[in-house]
Amino acid sequence: MPKFEYAPAPESRSVVDLKSSYGLFINGEFVDGSGTSFKSISPATEEVLAEVSAASEADVDAAVKAARTAYTRVWSKMSGADRGKYLYRIARILQERAREFAVLETLDNGKPIKESRDVDIPLAAAHFFYNAGWADKLGYAALPGGANPQPHGVVGQIIPWNFPMLMLAWKIAPALATGNTVVLKPAETTPLTALLFAEVCQQADLPPGVVNIVTGAGPTGQAIVDHPGIDKLAFTGSTGVGKMIARAISGTRKKATLELGGKAANIVFDDAAIDQAVEGIVTGIFFNQGHVCCAGSRLLVQETIADEVESRLKRRLETLRVGDPLDKNTDVGAINSKAQLDRIIALTDAGEGEGAVRWDNGCELPSKGFWFRPTVFTGVTQTHRIAQEEIFGPVLSVLTFRTPQEAVAKANNTPYGLSAGIWTEKGSRILWMADQLKAGVVWANTFNQFDPTSPFGGYKESGYGREGGRHGLEAYVKGTQS
Ligand code: ADP
Repeated sequence: MPKFEYAPAPESRSVVDLKSSYGLFINGEFVDGSGTSFKSISPATEEVLAEVSAASEADVDAAVKAARTAYTRVWSKMSGADRGKYLYRIARILQERAREFAVLETLDNGKPIKESRDVDIPLAAAHFFYNAGWADKLGYAALPGGANPQPHGVVGQIIPWNFPMLMLAWKIAPALATGNTVVLKPAETTPLTALLFAEVCQQADLPPGVVNIVTGAGPTGQAIVDHPGIDKLAFTGSTGVGKMIARAISGTRKKATLELGGKAANIVFDDAAIDQAVEGIVTGIFFNQGHVCCAGSRLLVQETIADEVESRLKRRLETLRVGDPLDKNTDVGAINSKAQLDRIIALTDAGEGEGAVRWDNGCELPSKGFWFRPTVFTGVTQTHRIAQEEIFGPVLSVLTFRTPQEAVAKANNTPYGLSAGIWTEKGSRILWMADQLKAGVVWANTFNQFDPTSPFGGYKESGYGREGGRHGLEAYVKGTQS
């Protein structure tokens, strides 16, 4: 199938003013960390972007103390309307500096500029706007605490590398709106936009200590989890680390929300609009290189249309442009790290080893950086590792079904329960399926739609607590389980 030829359309990176090194952001100022610093690289080129401080236990302690002082002296005393003003200010600055954030996100993460520009950064700003609107109306949000909901105090937040700025916004905006102060740790492979956000906090004149950013890897995260001054934890990341956090805080007074892995079923019935479903399958698993916890990584397709869907899907995948993430035509960017690429390779090798049939779109890959071709496995059975384990990469496992009951049984046959998709023209079937599926989010005739007003979160090993919407505020006030 002929592909259109596109002239390169690279976004300029001159809008980003990269420093050669970055410190921690504690009490409104950048300070050197006392841990061993590390380098953040561009996964598309392996170029070193900056040297970043690692926060030691002592640095985390300083950040928690700064957050506590800001909480007791300033933030908890401020009216909701005034907190809202700061959040609106941050939201507007994010919009004003959106291009800078998008380019930096793409450089540090490897995701296509069209995604960081059109999805990550606008949605991050939208979360601040949305939560700003709630800050002076919390008494009307039907939260625990009724007319006067109370914040937890100091919140520790640990986020992953797949949507660095968006996850920061999901975490910081509701925490601040409800009157908490924050110590946030970005992932070690993508710390740079969180540090640029620290500059935004300064620009917005946010009182020192309300937001503290500590960079570092697992041990820095662990120091946040273990710190006795933390009242609540919010974590997004792997199920393995989430379980460790749940164990670490059991028996303490700390509350937690955990947003963990997923292995979503994207279910296509024979009456679905097939071309639209194919687009939804592509969005479901190839958006953001499949580095999406709610990705539609298992395609369940009704047997009667399986061959047709498969051939249309492969034809569509041959047109995906894989390469320079800064090019505005690029559909699929770089895998975020060597470690993640190795995980994807190991699991896809296991898929082949267990007898599934592997296909990829055969595209050329850049010689430097971390890359993986959009890949589809057919002939997958429920026991295959590629049907059970989260690959977190651009890899789709295709299974078939005959009846709606069988589709439900297969979709729910997973330790996870974050999301699901249904493609059919029958409304009654959508409602019946949505009722049966054990998933926090169910999309119908669409996939991977996100909105700050809509709650998001999981069942089973996908975690607990909700983020977004009014439900997302609940996790940040006293009186809830999480
Ligand atoms: P992934 O496997 O997708 O990289 P992780 O769960 O390891 O996901 O990472 C998510 C976030 O959790 C990152 O910010 C990472 O640094 C942090 N993290 C990793 N290990 C720990 C730990 N033991 N305690 C707290 N945070 C951790």
